[in-house]
Amino acid sequence: MTSKMVSFFRRKKSDTDAAPAESPGSTRFSVEELAAAFPAPPAAPDATDRTDVDGDVATPTASTAPFEPAGTPSKPTEAERPAAAAGAQGWRERLRGSGFARSLGGLFSRNPKLDDDLLDEIETALLTADVGVTASTQLVESLRRRMKAREFADAAALLAALRRDLVAMLAPVAIPLTIDPGAKPFVLLTVGVNGVGKTTTIGKLAHRFRDEGRSLMLAAGDTFRAAAVAQLQAWGERNGVPVVAQGQNADAASVSFDALQAAKARGTEVLIADTAGRLHTQQGLMAELGKIKRVLQKLDPTAPQEVLMVIDGTTGQNALSQLRQFHAAVGVTGLVVTKLDGTAKGGVVFALAREFGIPIRYAGIGERPQDLRVFDAEAFVDALLPESLGA
Ligand code: GDP
Ligand code: GDP
Ligand code: MG
Repeated sequence: MTSKMVSFFRRKKSDTDAAPAESPGSTRFSVEELAAAFPAPPAAPDATDRTDVDGDVATPTASTAPFEPAGTPSKPTEAERPAAAAGAQGWRERLRGSGFARSLGGLFSRNPKLDDDLLDEIETALLTADVGVTASTQLVESLRRRMKAREFADAAALLAALRRDLVAMLAPVAIPLTIDPGAKPFVLLTVGVNGVGKTTTIGKLAHRFRDEGRSLMLAAGDTFRAAAVAQLQAWGERNGVPVVAQGQNADAASVSFDALQAAKARGTEVLIADTAGRLHTQQGLMAELGKIKRVLQKLDPTAPQEVLMVIDGTTGQNALSQLRQFHAAVGVTGLVVTKLDGTAKGGVVFALAREFGIPIRYAGIGERPQDLRVFDAEAFVDALLPESLGA
């Protein structure tokens, strides 16, 4: 095992002198492979000088597109601003394709009558969008009561009430992530099943934190797939963010430990640790997450400051059992719901909010570095509902 724990970057540095003996299980990636793993960031000034604390920390020097030093004001694009500033329009554009937006949009473009049929159609739309049976029934029964009590003048008034109810369901969990400046570093441990967008989200978060002028470090804790290490290293290389990595199949807890040690030594503000995707039903792998947490706590009893679970918004109701298991294993403190663009049904967000009340920190609405929005209940609901009602 120890022989495999070779730093990618240590190997890479020595590569100019003599070809080092490749350790078994280690893979080397070309700059091109690394670069291909993440889309190019928008800006490209000079990489700043970094001092190595130990050989396990990558110090990118030959970046093809290095990062902007902190303090250099970058021109904020529409998509890079926080959700509130970007307004409902950006969300709406991205979420237009969602099943939820389509079924409710279609329903109300037909100028429906205010009757029980309308309520049935709304219920179907909610269920189809993965809002879940309990939440959908609750929403519709409340609307029915108020309709019978003649609270609504027309269908539009009923839809406005639905909008308010949906916002009210999400408002309690729309709690943005705040980086406690007292934590040095603030450790973000990302967890979730395979392919949900953990590594992509880390790239997006790093992009965001870097824009905020924070010092960062990434830990390549997905040691199970070589490509995952490369994906993270590519992002680090291009953006001048140090990435702590060991060889493929290294112990994820050991990578996290090294990274936290290095981040402490450097006074880094934020450390984001990647982990391998795992099914919530794989007990051994779930236990491994607990080990990562325990090992981090040897260095900082309050770490990780955030256990961020990434959930694929297209997953449907299975997201609930995923969250239940991960929460039991490591104590999830925040959620990122990804892939809300495209074919996402989106409704699972309501079910998650209702069942767990765990803060939803961010929404992933695309694959670009800037496609991560601070979760905003109103913007999200307005993006799902027909334009005529949008705020
Ligand atoms: P991981 O296995 O959890 O680390 O998942 P990855 O970060 O490797 O992402 C899996 C796939 O999902 C990649 O093709 C990503 O580009 C894609 N992806 C991640 N987030 C989003 C998102 O918000 N929207 C869309 N459309 N795709 C996403
Ligand atoms: P194979 O041996 O290359 O066919 O790969 P397997 O899928 O059989 O996995 C090999 C070992 O790695 C098994 O003991 C798995 O339980 C374990 N494993 C699978 N996925 C993960 C993961 O995400 N992280 C870690 N640390 N181990 C894993
Ligand atoms: Mg990954």
